[in-house]
Amino acid sequence: MNKADSEHMLGLLDEINYKLTENIENANLVLFNTCTIRETANHRFYSQLGIAGNRKKQNPNLLIGVGGCVAQDKKKWLQTNFPYVDIVFGTNNIHKLPELIQKAETGTKVCEIEEELPFDLPELPVIRQTKVTAWVNVILGCNFNCTYCIVPSVRGRERSRTPEVILKEIQRLAQEGFKEITLLGQNVTAYGYDLDPNYSKEKATFGYIPLDPQYSLAKLLRYVHDVDGIERIRFLTGHPFHVTDELIETVSELPKACEYFHIPMQSGDDIVLKRMARVYSVEKYKKMVEKIRIKKPNAAITSDFIVGFPGETQEQFLNTVKTVQEIEFDACNTAAYSPRPDTPSALWENQISEEEKNERLRYLNSVVNEVLERKNKKLLNSTVEVLVEGASQRDTSKLMGRTRGNIIVNFDPVGSLHAMTDLIGQIVNIKITKTNSWSMNGELIIDN
Ligand code: SF4
Repeated sequence: MNKADSEHMLGLLDEINYKLTENIENANLVLFNTCTIRETANHRFYSQLGIAGNRKKQNPNLLIGVGGCVAQDKKKWLQTNFPYVDIVFGTNNIHKLPELIQKAETGTKVCEIEEELPFDLPELPVIRQTKVTAWVNVILGCNFNCTYCIVPSVRGRERSRTPEVILKEIQRLAQEGFKEITLLGQNVTAYGYDLDPNYSKEKATFGYIPLDPQYSLAKLLRYVHDVDGIERIRFLTGHPFHVTDELIETVSELPKACEYFHIPMQSGDDIVLKRMARVYSVEKYKKMVEKIRIKKPNAAITSDFIVGFPGETQEQFLNTVKTVQEIEFDACNTAAYSPRPDTPSALWENQISEEEKNERLRYLNSVVNEVLERKNKKLLNSTVEVLVEGASQRDTSKLMGRTRGNIIVNFDPVGSLHAMTDLIGQIVNIKITKTNSWSMNGELIIDN
């Protein structure tokens, strides 16, 4: 979602004639769109901010701006500790960026943080970094209160954009030649519930699902499915609580909806899940997986896991390992627990040592890699459908794309009747010749 926000910032900057440069020495503005989900993200930001500060010593006219979640969370601290920062703006007033920059250009220090998004969510210009796949924000914020998570305090309560506005954006993207859309939200599976006529602030809790919802992610998928030119639709990131039967059925029914479910589980132990306030049990999560696999046996189910949550015993950690092996996820993002300021679990006394967390993370990663290697091997010599996104990052004489299950496939375009660039944006069939844990290689199948 931060990357999607950055694309909007680029669009807003373009309106006031700021263009992107790869070289800080050519820049007259350095803008940070920060993430604070883990401490490592903060550290990276502070070290880059130091580099920009040094650059400003050589070029006093250089403007430095900080937006995103760190700015939302720590505006005073930023101003006090980094006096060379000219602009501080939050996650809820990205639309004001041109105005704030123009003010800073006059030599005024600017700090503007809004606690809530404006009532009418503004439509923002955008400059996208890709030409084939596009992110579209459909819901912002999160109503859950996971005890480790800083997102609700920096992104606020759930706010959905209306289907009409979303559709207009996607129709425009289709006209521009985009083929794949990812509907985005911190909790995308809650899409639309806050648009219900009976919704109120009191109902802005994670448990609210209208009886007969007028708006839902499943319904939105159907609208988007009707847009000519769009060939694939995904959504990110879901919460198991909101993965309804309607959603599973809709994904299995709609040919353009990729059978790809990224639904973070976070732990494979019920006690830990309870302390995380994740509001589901391991059994419930497994039932959801079963339902998805009954409807779509080849569905890719991927997850996020946190290891070393405060108080997590070795046995509880091993329950996570066992669950990863049993469910056989198609990919897992894993992270050692990182205490975030002002979240309940950061204050608990039973913190796990860094050494132990890293040891658990290493072990879980080795298990995840084994599972992925085993699963991907089954695809050897099979034919998969790949949407070609561009040149492979590893070898620019090759192309890369993704399967419907979001696995990266690199392939050689040799033998194609089309020029390499003409294949970008096409869905092609690839015979898999080599598999790794996180990507595959293959050969283009030439149609006669
Ligand atoms: S559902 Fe996700 S974004 Fe929301 S509080 Fe929990 S971890 Fe954070």
